[in-house]
Amino acid sequence: MLSEVLLFIAFMALFLTLNYLVFAFGGHWFFYHYLGPKIPHRRILENEASNAQILKEKRRSFHTQIMFMILALVIYGLYRAGYTKIYTTIDERGYLYFALSVLLMHQLHDAYFYWTHRLMHQWKPLQKYHFVHHESAPPTPYSSLSFHPVEAFIQGLYWIIISLMLPIHVYWLFAFYSFMFYINMWGHTSYEFWHKDLLTHKILKHLNTPTHHNIHHKYHKANFSIYYNLWDKLCGTNHPEYENHYRAVKAKTELAKTSKLMKMMKL
Ligand SMILES: [Zn+2]
Ligand SMILES: [Zn+2]
Repeated sequence: MLSEVLLFIAFMALFLTLNYLVFAFGGHWFFYHYLGPKIPHRRILENEASNAQILKEKRRSFHTQIMFMILALVIYGLYRAGYTKIYTTIDERGYLYFALSVLLMHQLHDAYFYWTHRLMHQWKPLQKYHFVHHESAPPTPYSSLSFHPVEAFIQGLYWIIISLMLPIHVYWLFAFYSFMFYINMWGHTSYEFWHKDLLTHKILKHLNTPTHHNIHHKYHKANFSIYYNLWDKLCGTNHPEYENHYRAVKAKTELAKTSKLMKMMKL
């Protein structure tokens, strides 16, 4: 039993570290050292993150990952005791359920993130914990996991709730974490790559953009959603400056573009 727990801890440590290396470290290197200097016209916020800010983000991210490790051990314990709905063989529920369950997990996380994030902004006792994340201004890929341990607990709690409530294949618990980190990393880059007319497109207008979350870090109020813009629209919590800011960034990009292909694609 002890050796199994130790093996699980080693596996989780490797999993969390690899994700951090790819999305936080890799994302920062790619956007700020490799690509960033070549594309200043895509920058959303003009000011640069200081070395002190990045150091703080790395330290807080480490604490967040310790919290995630503790919560993963709780899920492991609940699984071993037979309390979770986690399953391990796709055939148990079939491929259709396997595919649909992750879509449901994604939608539920979109709602969970919006409401817990909004609560952390609007309910005084939680504000001081969440504002630790807002010290990242402008945000960087290292901000993605830069939380106070209380917020790290709230963010990680979602995986426990899902494990207890929704029959979900064990693969999705890991794959969805990587997907969430990847989207989070995009939201915390200071660069915009979406289509120029995204905000007026019939379907794509419901997606969130890096500008959306950068504005959130700048003004602290409004723009609480993560993957989609639906909850912010539905609840009237989009920042009034969001669309203007997006258009201004895209107009700056259009002027600076030299590639005919990029101009044609309006990216
Ligand atoms: Zn916030
Ligand atoms: Zn953020």
